[in-house]
Order: sequence, then structure tokens, then C-alpha cells
Amino acid sequence: MYMAFGNMGKGVEVDLSSGTVTEFEIPEEIYRDYIGGTGLAAKLLYDRGNLEAEPLDPENLLIFATGPLTGIGFSGSSRLSVGSRSPLTGIWGQASCGGNFGPELKRCGYDALILRGKAEKPVYLILGDDSLEIAPADDLWGKDTYETTDILKERHGKQAKVLAVGPAAENLIPFASIVNDYGHHFGRAGMGTVMGSKRVKAIVAQGTKKMEYKDPEKVKAMQEEHRQLVKDNIFCGALSAFGTGANMEAKMYEGDVPTRNWGRGLWEEGAEKLSGIALADNFIVDHGSCRGCAVRCKPVVEVKEGPYAMGPGPGPEYETQASFGTMIMNDNLAALCKINDYCNRAGMDTITCGSTIAWAMDCYEAGILKPEDYEGIKLEWGDVDTVIELLPKIVNREGKLGALLAKGSRKAAEEVGNGADAYLTDSKGLEAPMHDPRCNWGDGLAYAVSIRGACHVSNLTFLLEWGAIEYPEIGLDKNYQPQSTEYKAEAVALTADLGCIMNSACWCEFPGTIYSVTQWAELFDAVAGYGWDYRKMMEAGARVWFLQRCLGHIWGATGADDRIGQRIMTPVEDGGIAGSVPDMETMLREFYEYRGMTPDGMPTRETLEKYGLGYLADRLGL
Ligand code: SF4
Repeated sequence: MYMAFGNMGKGVEVDLSSGTVTEFEIPEEIYRDYIGGTGLAAKLLYDRGNLEAEPLDPENLLIFATGPLTGIGFSGSSRLSVGSRSPLTGIWGQASCGGNFGPELKRCGYDALILRGKAEKPVYLILGDDSLEIAPADDLWGKDTYETTDILKERHGKQAKVLAVGPAAENLIPFASIVNDYGHHFGRAGMGTVMGSKRVKAIVAQGTKKMEYKDPEKVKAMQEEHRQLVKDNIFCGALSAFGTGANMEAKMYEGDVPTRNWGRGLWEEGAEKLSGIALADNFIVDHGSCRGCAVRCKPVVEVKEGPYAMGPGPGPEYETQASFGTMIMNDNLAALCKINDYCNRAGMDTITCGSTIAWAMDCYEAGILKPEDYEGIKLEWGDVDTVIELLPKIVNREGKLGALLAKGSRKAAEEVGNGADAYLTDSKGLEAPMHDPRCNWGDGLAYAVSIRGACHVSNLTFLLEWGAIEYPEIGLDKNYQPQSTEYKAEAVALTADLGCIMNSACWCEFPGTIYSVTQWAELFDAVAGYGWDYRKMMEAGARVWFLQRCLGHIWGATGADDRIGQRIMTPVEDGGIAGSVPDMETMLREFYEYRGMTPDGMPTRETLEKYGLGYLADRLGL
């Protein structure tokens, strides 16, 4: 086998239907062209998968993949990506997780783990040095993610790294997550659901293998330099102290924090009571971290007394502080910690779940969801105790309301009809994350054209609009006025490529964006010896974007799906976003043109061939 610097050079596939385990080599050019992580997962799914398979069909593949930066000892370099056809959206779904499983997968000797087929009975997988075993998991089925992790660490040793799914995945709730060692999540797009559909309850990894670098001295020097940059970075400092909700109050005044299912633009008291500062003042007892990351943005919280008391455990991140806070008009942070704990244990995406409940509250207020049709349950804004009672009903599809909300907001609205779609906040079936495009219009375009549906971690436009980053080497140093279309097409296209690079290289956005794109390319070269300058690196990012976009086209998505939910396209009357609605038509037109796509949002053959993707043009008949 060739020397795969920065990578292990091979993957392993398990066919759960037959119990067969097969190793496969990953050619060097695949790493160069598709980087790793979500790029590698998409390429493997295209090459080895059955593209006719429905998301929960056993033939749909679930692919975990590391990137060249996984496990290199930098802050933010412990990530792992997963990709599959999503049961929530029907198109390419992907998620990225910090924690510590990614480096361990490499230590077992693998860059990719493919799950195919469906086990007859519940199983879990045990990864060791160049090995994969299938073990029975009847005793684990039905347990939550924390209990499962406890048992497996007891059985395989505290150093073993664990991925687990909870009851939400077992019950095929389409927004189930995969949880790594309690506090780290592959949250979005129902990747846990696909794992549950294969009857894989957990994956345990423990290895001893080492990765080689092309230029170890340079990697070491850059590590030291990056450590200092992280230490001196004010944003990273705020994340350490207050978690990702550090900036919530200021952002509320700007109008960036979705409130009352995106129906209001300002709720000062709510932001004050829910913010990272309030969390630190009242509940943070420690600061957790992904492996080797100096930022430590993961609060550990404890609610010592009262009806929502809970022992120390992973605390809510900003997305949850908004989706189960401002979105449903709940300003009780203790209750929110409890909800977060429940969702972690059940293995459920808090953005989709909170947004679906917020959608239902809006429909209730509008008289579309009537309590008499749904077991008498009243969905009043801010009634957090009803929400807490509702969560297990969603996980177990219990009762008419639980079963409805267990579908996610888009499918629930289709079932309810009667104008319920006016309150949707999704793009392509994935509920929007907690940054308001009426505040930063580029975010609207980013959500609309995002591959997996509304997503903020696959695109850095909002950070440009905030003035938090700039990349002069690639022209991303303009004057980005938040509520304007100017430069947004270019910004969204280029930062989508950067997002693809990050999720493929498997590097965390927070410490990753401290580097310039020139430094990123230098790091790739030192680690993996790709010989890239930043132009080549950007080209690889665009290649990954178009591959994943084309998977969506193969599965039926078109430019008509590049839209954001009607609720977000409705102006609000208060706050910093009063009257603002992003000009989607202009931005989409300019984006397609900038990207080399047709006016109706299809890539052209010429564009695909430019990135070496002529095979996709053939497949799509372009
Ligand atoms: S910044 Fe936070 S999420 Fe990112 S790697 Fe560090 S601890 Fe993990």
C-alpha cells in the first residue's frame, strides 16, 4: 500500500445483513480530489452505494469518514463526519461531530467506516487495530445513549470511545442523532435514524495505530503557532467562558435570534435569562471539550434543585438555547437544561425538535391545530412543562400529537394542511438553525442553497456579515452590509466551498477560522503532502459541493427547492429586523450565475467538467 500521509489509506465496510466485513483501499487521488470527511463519504456513497435505495432501505449506506486534519493535535481537529441519504429530507444528509471518536477511528487504521444492510437483531460494532467485530446488543436496545455508553465503557474500558443511538433512532424518528461519549452529537438530518434502521445500537473503538505526516516538523511548528492564536483570540475566550450562547443578548438586539417561531424580532428579557452569561452565572459547573481543544466551548451544567433538577452533565449549546428557549418563548433556563439532557439521552436533534414544536405552537395559536383533535393538549407559548411532557410522546410516537410531531415540521405541515405551511422555517425539509436571514440576508441564500437543507455550519457567510472573518486571498474582504444583496452570491459560493473543506478535512469552525486560507493550504500540505496552494484547495471544496448537490439532483431535488420557509420570509414588526425580508430572487439569480449553473439552478456540464465531475453530467443527462 502507498504511504497515505495524513490518512490511513483504507476503509472498512460491514454488511449487517450477511455479517461480512471487508477492508478496501482508498486511492490517493480520491483524498486529493474529495479531501476526506463529508467529501469522501459522498464519493464512497456514489461509487459503492445503491442510489435507488430509499433512506431507510437496508441498501442505503451510512458512512463515517475522517479527514486529513482529524487527530493532528490542533484545537478543533478531533472531528468526524457522517453522510447518508437523509430520512428527514430524502437528499444528501451529513453531520459532523467533535468529541473523540474521529481520532480513534484513525487509530484503528481506518479513514472510513461503511454500514450497509440491516442486522437481523440489534448489534453493536467493535473496532480495534485493523479489525471490526459484530456483537449482540439485545441488552442495550431500549436504553438511552448515556446508559448505553456507561455499559460499553464498563465492558470495554474507560478509554474506549463510543458512538450510541437512543430510543429516537430505534423508533425511526427521522431526526434522531448519534451521540459520542455523552456530550458530542452528529445532530442533524437524521443520521441516527439510518443507524437505528440498520439495528446498530452503538460503535466502540479503541486502537493504537499512528498516522504519518508529510512534514512532521512543520506540523509541530504550526501547532504551536495555532495554539497561540487560539489563546489570543477573544471570540474563543468568550466561548470558553460562556459556551456558544456567549453572544446571545447582543445578537438579540441585532435581530439574529429567532423568537416565537420567527414571528418576533426582539425579546430582551428572554435573551437575558437564556444567554451564555446566565448559564455561567447559574448552572455551569465545568467546561468540557473535544479531544485536545483549548477552546473548551462545551459547558457542563448542573441544576441543583427544583422541578428541573439534574446532576452534572453536558449543557445546552446556543442552537438549543434558542430552539427550546426563544423559539417557544421559554425563558426558564433550568427547564431548558433538563430538555437538553432529555434530548441528549433520547438521541434527538434539538433544532428540528424545538422548531417543530414552535411550528405547532404557531399553528395552535392560529387555530389550525385544535386541542380537541390532539388529546386536548394545549400548546401555549412558554408552557415548558407541556413541552417536557410532549418529548417522550414524540420519541415514542405516542398519541396523535406525538405521532404528528415525530415527522418533523415539513411532513407534519403536509399532513395537517389548512395553511400550516405558512409557519414552516425549513429549507428542503431541514429546519433552519438559529440565525435569522432577515438580519443577515446572505444567511438566507446560504440556507436556501445549502446541500443538506438549511444549515449554518456548511457555510461561513454569517461570520463574514458579522465582520468576524475575512479572507482577502480569495476576495472575501468586501463591505458586507447585512441587509443587502451586494457581494452575497460570491460570499455564499466561496464560503460554501470553505464549509465543504472544513467538513471534509474535519476541522471545527471556531478554531479553524482563525487561520487564513493560505495557512489552511499550508497545513494540508504539511500533514498530507497534497501539494496544494489555496486555489487548488478551493477547487477541491467546490468539487465536493457539486458532488453533494448532484446527489440531491439524482434524488429529485431541483432549483425550486432552493427556498427558505415562508415564516422566515414574512416580515416582523419589532427589533433590528423590523420590515426586513431577504431579496432571495436577486441573490439566487446572481448565485447561479456566479456558480456556473443554469437560471433554474442546475449545474452545467461545462461547470461539472471543470471540477472533474463529467461522470455526474453523464448520470444527470446534462
Ligand atoms: S471549539 Fe468547541 S466544538 Fe470546536 S473542537 Fe473545540 S470544544 Fe469542540
